[in-house]
Amino acid sequence: MKKTVRDIDVSGKKVLVRCDFNVPMQDGKITDDRRITAALPTIEYLIEQNAKVILMSHMGRPKGEPKPEFSLQPVADRLSELLKQDVVFAKSPVVVDDSVKAAAEALAPGQVMLLENVRYRAEETKNQEPFTGQLASLGDVFVNDAFGTAHRAHCSTAGIASYLPSVSGFLIEKEVKFLGDALEDPARPFIAIMGGAKVGDKIPVMENIIGKVDALMIGGGMSYTFFKAMGFEIGTSILDEESLDMARDIMKKAEDAGVEFLLPVDTVCAKEFNNDSPQIVCDRDKIPADIMGMDIGPKTVELYTKKLAEAKTIVWNGPAGVFEMPNFAAGTKAIAQALADGDAVTVIGGGDSAAAVEQFGLADKMTHISTGGGASLEFLEGKELPGIACLEDK
Ligand code: ADP
Ligand code: MG
Repeated sequence: MKKTVRDIDVSGKKVLVRCDFNVPMQDGKITDDRRITAALPTIEYLIEQNAKVILMSHMGRPKGEPKPEFSLQPVADRLSELLKQDVVFAKSPVVVDDSVKAAAEALAPGQVMLLENVRYRAEETKNQEPFTGQLASLGDVFVNDAFGTAHRAHCSTAGIASYLPSVSGFLIEKEVKFLGDALEDPARPFIAIMGGAKVGDKIPVMENIIGKVDALMIGGGMSYTFFKAMGFEIGTSILDEESLDMARDIMKKAEDAGVEFLLPVDTVCAKEFNNDSPQIVCDRDKIPADIMGMDIGPKTVELYTKKLAEAKTIVWNGPAGVFEMPNFAAGTKAIAQALADGDAVTVIGGGDSAAAVEQFGLADKMTHISTGGGASLEFLEGKELPGIACLEDK
């Protein structure tokens, strides 16, 4: 267990908080502020505790140079509206300089300041000096609350912890609790649903999860690599040729571990990768040579949703079909609905799976939707995330 902001005294201290304010922008405007609202509990707690709050984040890929289109000024403005108080924006092309230091020193308890995009500095993503030391010189304590970048060892996510007492914020605490409990102490039956485009991307997750789950349910583009491995014709479906051996290996491992391994029994296909291409439903061993699999079929939906209704813990990573096209979203939607209707603890990891659940309007029916795509995948792979490993233990 890692220490959190609750475990230390922050009153009157300059607290440097790494947030994930990497919000989508269009024409200088924030199009979705959920990453900002997700950071509010930690920031509001620190304000209440009379800390001097210094926030830092990256946004986009300015590649180590100050580029105005990647400035965090719009984030400072939005944050100020949400907190209903002034947010001092430390506008500096080098992120930390004498004027920024002076502004940090001048903060009163309960005041909030935001630094400029940390990726304006080339050292940031290399975790190099002198930037790490310069950042650390601004504060007395480090709080990491940026789960989305916790799988990266950068100056502002991990390096800084070697200078300052370091704890987690509430967002990282929540992610570790839900992802960690699901993996280590799940209510059973525990089912993992794995989907998405390529098997190769998900093999490490499957390897880690196979010893923990009661059943592994496969959907999405990766199904066809398994079908091919089983000797079926898959037409023009997406195939991850390099992962064929690993797919066989996973099936063998599941068998050896006594884990039920569920593959789709039928599939919705199309001639072209296009929403208007007519739907052709066929059993998995009867896919014609000139069409491609786009979604799980109706028999599979019935089989899977029945099985999911019995589960007590469900981890879902990767959509069951090309859900971005409405005509091929039915399988993914049925799975999301099954999770919403059941009483299992439901944890969604993976950027596209989270987007799918949002798109269907079922987000508030899930126990936890991870805010970090890549970070949640690495967590599910069983890897130690550097931005969390660097924090103090309780
Ligand atoms: P996540 O971000 O949740 O981890 P992935 O990135 O692995 O998920 O996979 C999501 C992508 O997989 C989606 O863009 C979806 O369209 C694609 N996909 C799902 N099923 C298929 C399929 N049958 N053929 C091609 N692509 C698919
Ligand atoms: Mg994805």
